[in-house]
Amino acid sequence: MHACIHRGSHEIGGSCVELRSDGQRLLIDMGLPLDAPGDSARFVPPIAGLDGSDPSLLGLLVSHPHIDHYGLLNYLSPKIPVGMGAAARRIVKAASPFMRNGLPSISEGWDFESGVPFDIGPFRVTPFLVDHSAYDAYALLVESGGRRLFYSGDFRSKGRKGKLFHVFCDDPPSDIHALLLEGTTIGRPEPRVSEGMVQIRMERLFSATPGLVLVHSSMQNIDRVVSVFKAGRKTSRKLVIDLYGAAVLEATGNENIPQASWPDVALYIPEFQLEKAKMLPELMERYSRFRIDLSQICFNPGRYTLMFRPRHVDDLGSEGCLDGAAYVYSMWEGYRERGDNAKVDEWLAKKGVSSYSIHSSGHAGTSDLQKLVSCLNPHKVIPIHSFSPERYREVFPSVEMHGDGEWWEV
Ligand SMILES: [Zn+2]
Repeated sequence: MHACIHRGSHEIGGSCVELRSDGQRLLIDMGLPLDAPGDSARFVPPIAGLDGSDPSLLGLLVSHPHIDHYGLLNYLSPKIPVGMGAAARRIVKAASPFMRNGLPSISEGWDFESGVPFDIGPFRVTPFLVDHSAYDAYALLVESGGRRLFYSGDFRSKGRKGKLFHVFCDDPPSDIHALLLEGTTIGRPEPRVSEGMVQIRMERLFSATPGLVLVHSSMQNIDRVVSVFKAGRKTSRKLVIDLYGAAVLEATGNENIPQASWPDVALYIPEFQLEKAKMLPELMERYSRFRIDLSQICFNPGRYTLMFRPRHVDDLGSEGCLDGAAYVYSMWEGYRERGDNAKVDEWLAKKGVSSYSIHSSGHAGTSDLQKLVSCLNPHKVIPIHSFSPERYREVFPSVEMHGDGEWWEV
């Protein structure tokens, strides 16, 4: 088996790996670089047969539903099957109508089941469910021709499914020849805040806040939504989601995840979503009876926590419901530091809303990465999904660097 990292050997985002064995090929992830400006077509890796014209390209495996892992799927022929988690596939489908330009459509293919191997031509694939900030995320073991490659995907141990990491390390697959290891946090401060700590911090803040709490996070970070929900329940606040949130939570298919129909959850359809709501009559039919309007929230804002999106500012500005309010930035600080949140920050300052940052990383710190390397004990560790691949040698044994576009033997 041979492998080629098309993108990701020295960057976070846009991951794409091609495997070749016995004249057949398999892709893992086809992501859009995180800061890809303009026309995404120029980021499509030079892979033969993406248009479906080459039968040696057997399929694509998507590790998890983050754009930097599947954002280029529109450039893959619908004839080529795609493997991913069933819930992950549903989430992308449910979220798509709410995105300005839609999300890539994903062909049917294989539905991952953790620990259950399946064959694609000469490749045997075993997905392993992992803890990550994207729902239904997997690491992948690919075997072919007696060689075994393990693709870590994005993972951590400090989320709500952190146990998965320790269970995996207690009984890891053996004889791994090559480990493609994500290194998002290499060269960055070690993430120390767990999702459980996020919940506790939010609980404290919710208690201390007399007015509305605005939590600015991704609705697709389901762990975070659960933290906000639980912190809210302990402080007698209802979780307010919009129609997009209702659709994403429903798509998890998990009855333990908060839903728009739950008593401690309310659906508020903001001004900018009213047109969209008309185009989604079935979704509306399921959830419109759980709807509340802004005046209800503003009448008693201290009883609610709103999953905030920047476009909410148009609604919230005029109603006077920001008295005693607090805003929580609950995403990676790096986005804010590079100015992505400047307009919101300006609006908050103008409205006199106190701003806080409470977040837990979606990625493993160095010690967990080291633990994975020592439990898998691979012949070689290959950096991927990192801005500091050259620093792998400082923390892992048997590191082998392979640049973008370079083919190497597994
Ligand atoms: Zn990810």
